[in-house]
Amino acid sequence: MCTGRGDTLSLNVLFAALPHRWPQYRKQLEAAFAGAGVDCTLVNEIDDPARVDVIVYAPNSGLEDFGPFTNLKAVLNLWAGVEDIVDNTTLQVPLARMVDPGLTQGMIEWVTAHVLRHHLEIDLDITCPPGDWRYRVPKLASQQRVGILGLGSLGAACADALVSLGFDVAGWSRTAHDASHFPAFHGSDGLEQLIQRSDILVLLLPLTEATSDLIDAERLALLPKGAVLLNPGRGGLVDDAALLEALESGQVGHATLDTFRVEPLPPDHPFWTHPRVTVTPHIASATRPETASRVIAENVRRVAMGAPLLHLVDRGLGY
Ligand code: NDP
Repeated sequence: MCTGRGDTLSLNVLFAALPHRWPQYRKQLEAAFAGAGVDCTLVNEIDDPARVDVIVYAPNSGLEDFGPFTNLKAVLNLWAGVEDIVDNTTLQVPLARMVDPGLTQGMIEWVTAHVLRHHLEIDLDITCPPGDWRYRVPKLASQQRVGILGLGSLGAACADALVSLGFDVAGWSRTAHDASHFPAFHGSDGLEQLIQRSDILVLLLPLTEATSDLIDAERLALLPKGAVLLNPGRGGLVDDAALLEALESGQVGHATLDTFRVEPLPPDHPFWTHPRVTVTPHIASATRPETASRVIAENVRRVAMGAPLLHLVDRGLGY
């Protein structure tokens, strides 16, 4: 049972995620609920779904039918991506996605690291044969154009970090953004312009009907020859066959991919062995129990108070 400070509603919160997550989250959530002034009985198992008010939810938990949860008031996704739940027709209550300072910081670090890897041509030194003194003057960040598709919680934070390092950053989003410190494009004309000026293109879009296969052969052809693609967004944003062709022709110089259509990436997938592809196993970032629990507690408090949720998903838009 969970009671918001000064409110009238009492809530039961179900934690629905893979079993190993429960010990990672339980204490953090309980501490966060206490900190937010909500006194909760938090459970990971239930006898009666009708008594559940809020579900803290991971899409791989196995829970797919929300129908029996007849008193449900909100579902709080543990992940930033909601593509696996957004079309669930049994879900009839508000859905919040995860925006977590720890998750954001992790993504900044992954994106910055991989941008710097290519910018500084670090591979040349790692793979350099002994005795091969390859002196060169590296470009400065201001000479490297980085394009970021998606200017949400993650894309905007990565753009800010790269701007602060001096990179020539531009971004693209669905709606117009007023980013004073870097050019921000939107719409299909804007996408074309952004891709054409991206020596390094970073995908931080959600996977929706509108973004599926967005990076196809035509758009890859707009990149400057030899550009680098970083995809920590979702595998379905990219047409894999078109990417492999672009890598073969040299149109794309390197692709560093963290997300894939099928995960884990099957052992026989050509990305594993392609000399100009780096695979990272969906580790660009992760929800961090300590920081995420505070965000969840604030949303549970809001449910108890009848206030609007933070980070509400627009189910029509799919993100
Ligand atoms: P947000 O919802 O905060 O931001 C999404 C951004 O994408 C917004 O700027 C939005 O535009 C833009 N966008 C959405 N649809 C379109 C479209 N059709 N055309 C142009 N722009 C569009 O998401 P987050 O930043 O929190 O996360 C982004 C994605 O990162 C997640 O959905 C997930 O797939 C991925 N991710 C990957 C992780 C990993 O470890 N690899 C970890 C966490 C997330 P607008 O601003 O106009 O609404």
